[in-house]
Amino acid sequence: MDQAKAKAAMAVKRLFQGLTGRHAAADPEADYGNVAVISPHDSARRLELLDDFECGGFAWMWATDSEGRLIYVSASAAERLDKPLTELLAQPFVTLFETDPDNPDERGSDRPLKFQLSARNKLIDVTVRFAPTRLSGDHGTGGGRSAWWSISGHPKFDAAGKFLGYRGSAKDITIEYERKLEDSRMAEYDSLTGLANRHRMTRRLESTLGAYKAAKRSCTLMMLDLDKFKQVNDMMGHPAGDEVLRQVAQRLQRVIGERGEIGRLGGDEFQVILPDLDDRGKLGELAGKVIQIVSQPYPIEDGRAIIGTSVGIAIAPYDGVEREEIVRAADLALYAAKNGGRGAFRFFSADLKDEAEERRLLEDDLREALAADQLELHYQPVVRIADNMVVGCEALMRWEHPERGPIGPAAFISVAEESSLIVQLGEWALRRACQDAMVWPASVRVAVNVSAVQFANPGFATVVTNALAASGLAPERLELELTESVFMGDSDVTEETFKMLKQLGVRLALDDFGTGYSSLSYLRSAPFDKLKVDKSFVDSCTQQDQNSAKIIAAIIGLSDALGMETTVEGVEAFDQLELVKSKGAKFIQGWLYAKALPQGALLEAMGDGTFKIEPNGPDRHRPDRRSVFRRIGVIHEDHRYDAVMRDLSKTGARIEGLLGVTNGTGLVLDLGAGQLAVGSVTRVQDATIAIEFETPLVSDGAGGLVTRHRVSPYALAAAGMPLAALPPGNYPLSLGGEGGSSKPQFLQVTVGR
Ligand code: C2E
Ligand code: MG
Ligand code: MG
Repeated sequence: MDQAKAKAAMAVKRLFQGLTGRHAAADPEADYGNVAVISPHDSARRLELLDDFECGGFAWMWATDSEGRLIYVSASAAERLDKPLTELLAQPFVTLFETDPDNPDERGSDRPLKFQLSARNKLIDVTVRFAPTRLSGDHGTGGGRSAWWSISGHPKFDAAGKFLGYRGSAKDITIEYERKLEDSRMAEYDSLTGLANRHRMTRRLESTLGAYKAAKRSCTLMMLDLDKFKQVNDMMGHPAGDEVLRQVAQRLQRVIGERGEIGRLGGDEFQVILPDLDDRGKLGELAGKVIQIVSQPYPIEDGRAIIGTSVGIAIAPYDGVEREEIVRAADLALYAAKNGGRGAFRFFSADLKDEAEERRLLEDDLREALAADQLELHYQPVVRIADNMVVGCEALMRWEHPERGPIGPAAFISVAEESSLIVQLGEWALRRACQDAMVWPASVRVAVNVSAVQFANPGFATVVTNALAASGLAPERLELELTESVFMGDSDVTEETFKMLKQLGVRLALDDFGTGYSSLSYLRSAPFDKLKVDKSFVDSCTQQDQNSAKIIAAIIGLSDALGMETTVEGVEAFDQLELVKSKGAKFIQGWLYAKALPQGALLEAMGDGTFKIEPNGPDRHRPDRRSVFRRIGVIHEDHRYDAVMRDLSKTGARIEGLLGVTNGTGLVLDLGAGQLAVGSVTRVQDATIAIEFETPLVSDGAGGLVTRHRVSPYALAAAGMPLAALPPGNYPLSLGGEGGSSKPQFLQVTVGR
């Protein structure tokens, strides 16, 4: 029996040898007894065998002519492709089949089929796709099926060496191949969002940075982490969380488009690789757009979710050359962005500490601080413009850290919100604020900020009731400041809590109105007594940007129409006061009247009970101009001078320490870490000079200013330094141009604080 099998196999082998043209030396005289073997010369029976073989469907045969056109293909193959033979025959082979550029086995190394055929290469198990879309009039929907073949073949030549075409075999591997594609897709892409996964992003970054290093190109890495995503999961459930992640992925794809590759690293962490983009002005704009779009509400089955995002940005080769360096740099920038308050971007800079670690430590310390009574409430007055009377005070949490000094709520509230610590923190603040307000004049209300996490806690109304009862404060003197994120919780619980609070008689204010996702439907559905116009509108209302002033007017108008009060936050100067007054503002909370004061100072200011504050501050708001004291380098020709920068704005700086400079002199300010700001002198007074920059500076995302471009490490490397991230200090002048022979033209004088 085995012998028969072996013989049959032998016969098939001979058959193929026959097909390939090398006739086997079969012995026609051999005696096989009563076995009806097929003689190589028995064309009829060989043909019959061939037919049987082709019909079996294990494999097919194909042949092309010298022009590359298909002259034969097994009829059963055409059947499998769902195409009549007449549509296949006489067609160029390369229009019917193509290699897969994404073949996970051969990615990158696989030569296109066309190339292989025209080089008359032997084909061995080449994976090709039947390309029905390439056939005229067929757009891939009618007729042809998606099919993957493994083809082998060899070129056939005549005795004179003339090419006659290909002869080959093919077999259908569609099922195995698609499974393999799916496996590799799963290994490379995130199944929830369809974005590249961590594995793929790591590989992409590694290969991009490697190739770019050689080509002296730059590449930016953005790291994103969603703010308040944990709350979506906790408050709305995991399916809602998944839906939000999917929608975030879609929005990112819309913003980033073709500019870069987006990946989800896991959880709520995303990453974007942006090749050839190193302008920090453009990157800041892009990051701003990402933050804005991700922060729009997400429609989720019965409700909406509200999240935000923080973005950290690192740029190769400036912030690092190797993948690990760039990833670490972007991570540090991300944590700095989160720490500075949410919804911000931040560029990496060498002085950033490991803030992930810092945040963990902060959480531990905060827990201790709460237990050890290290937290305090300060109170910022809200003033009625008409008569300068204080009508209320907002309680703002302050933390005097034993080692680190004062830490602002923008840094620690978000840490507390990520653990459940905020619930205890919030309860403490409510109790303390009610208690403190008891000794204020009865006309002064107390406002307490309430985090959405705290609000979503089913016991919240009871906490408020207890704080009022324990202190004896009249409910109408307590105002709770909520942000729109309270609406993302379970809407039944939210509604119930609103109802209970209203029954209690406390007042409700909607804080930070106008930022991100202001929705009129909230105003209609919830019983607010007050809107607080966000400081960001006031910041820019006196600038050229006319929109902010219009928005302020619109919010005040809306609030009036709905019978609510409005407080405008963050007024620092008289020009802002005049403007918001002209737009209808009646209540102000801002530094022009008072900063937040400790209870002791507040009581002193309240004096005998008539609590009035006169506005006091600068006439004009100068948002960009920051007073600084920073030692910088000033480069003029081939000399570097030391000077002190006194103030800095986007468009210029005032520096001190050089005598003999004249108007119009071109100077370069070395702001450190490869940042050279080119400018010219516009004003001189003794040792103080004003400089206007050629290219305005851009925001670093954290209230600071940076240059758009930096000295390229590639240029430094070309001048003999090792290729590495930019060091924090001064630009090495000796590399800028050899020389230094001329005499210094200015006199450097020492400047103190
Ligand atoms: P918020 O509720 O919008 O508070 C107003 C913030 O603007 C305060 O910052 C206040 O100091 C600041 N501000 C007011 N007027 C001016 C001004 O004229 N110029 C400038 N530059 N700033 C002004 P603060 O105290 O740093 O608080 C930041 C945020 O932290 C608060 O924003 C609030 O969302 C949160 N927060 C503070 N205390 C608590 C608390 O006890 N519980 C909760 N959940 N959040 C709190
Ligand atoms: Mg507030
Ligand atoms: Mg606010």
